[in-house]
Amino acid sequence: MWRGVSLLPQFPKEIPAFSVNRACASSNQAVTAAHDQIAFGHADVILAGGVESLSDVPILASRRLATNHFTGWGYWIWFIPLKDGITSVGAVVWPYYMKNRDKPLREYFLETIARCPALQARLANAELVAEPEATGNYSYSCDRCQGDNYVMLGDAFAFVDPVFSSGVMLAMNSAFAGVEVVEARLAADRVAEARARKRFDHVMRHGPKEFSWFIYRVTNPTMRDLFMSPSDRMDMKKALLSVLAGDIFGDTPIRRGLRLFKAAYYVFSLVHLRRTVAAWRRRAFNIRDDSEMRLSRS
Ligand SMILES: Cc1cc2nc3c(=O)[nH]c(=O)nc-3n(C[C@H](O)[C@H](O)[C@H](O)COP(=O)(O)OP(=O)(O)OC[C@H]3O[C@@H](n4cnc5c(N)ncnc54)[C@H](O)[C@@H]3O)c2cc1C
Repeated sequence: MWRGVSLLPQFPKEIPAFSVNRACASSNQAVTAAHDQIAFGHADVILAGGVESLSDVPILASRRLATNHFTGWGYWIWFIPLKDGITSVGAVVWPYYMKNRDKPLREYFLETIARCPALQARLANAELVAEPEATGNYSYSCDRCQGDNYVMLGDAFAFVDPVFSSGVMLAMNSAFAGVEVVEARLAADRVAEARARKRFDHVMRHGPKEFSWFIYRVTNPTMRDLFMSPSDRMDMKKALLSVLAGDIFGDTPIRRGLRLFKAAYYVFSLVHLRRTVAAWRRRAFNIRDDSEMRLSRS
């Protein structure tokens, strides 16, 4: 069973689990290993399976061809290799940057890529295979996630900036929690339904909230420093990795490490007070809804 699946709240975390990672036939390997464990009497029941990964094969060969995020103050750009040499590239920028677009979108997009020399170099020989598109009000969340006869799963309730690739994990978790509500409702078990609804509400709000703290700060210079010089002092790195891996609904003891990481962020922000204030001012300027202002490029 894939290690990530074993971390879902439905499973006790003591269940031993591992991932098989091969370019081909991982699921066959997983099932064979499971068979052996049972044959040797080491286990009674094993869940084994696989997912399609052949289309990701180049990722195993070169990090340069893997999904990459390029960040700078006020923007981040995704670089996701798809099939047949096609790569998805998109930029998430401050609203003011888009509102001040003074040229056709195609040129603006290329200019945005040029803000990040490492990415520009990687795309030097690339050509656009489709016209860029732009959208606003990218992230959202609803006030309520359920009602008498419905639950709102995944993006139906909230969408957060995908910088940490959290969307599918959050949607899957919401489905697990939502099923409990539906099951209790169908069984006409009011007590179980009330409990399931409470849990569902928690799952729906907790996930986006946990990720949002990092999303709001991810392009900030202090956060960048912390990410670029990771330290596992007082389990901070472990806690951070747990969050980014989506292990936020179980009992893994990450609260302390996470609190310390956040405290370290605020301490470093104070230590670099001048930079923090400048960054805060620049952000406030660039997210303001004021069409009279000019674009800040400093
Ligand atoms: C640019 C971008 C990059 C992303 N990168 C990642 C990433 O790397 N990792 C990650 O985990 N997440 C990522 N996400 C987020 C992720 O895609 C979503 O959070 C996730 O797909 C949500 O799943 P969902 O089932 O709630 O919604 P969806 O995947 O949107 O599924 C909803 C489905 O319902 C269908 N539908 C809509 N209306 C109707 C209707 N009236 N009748 C019938 N069907 C209907 C839609 O066609 C769609 O197929 C990214 C999102 C974006 C926009």
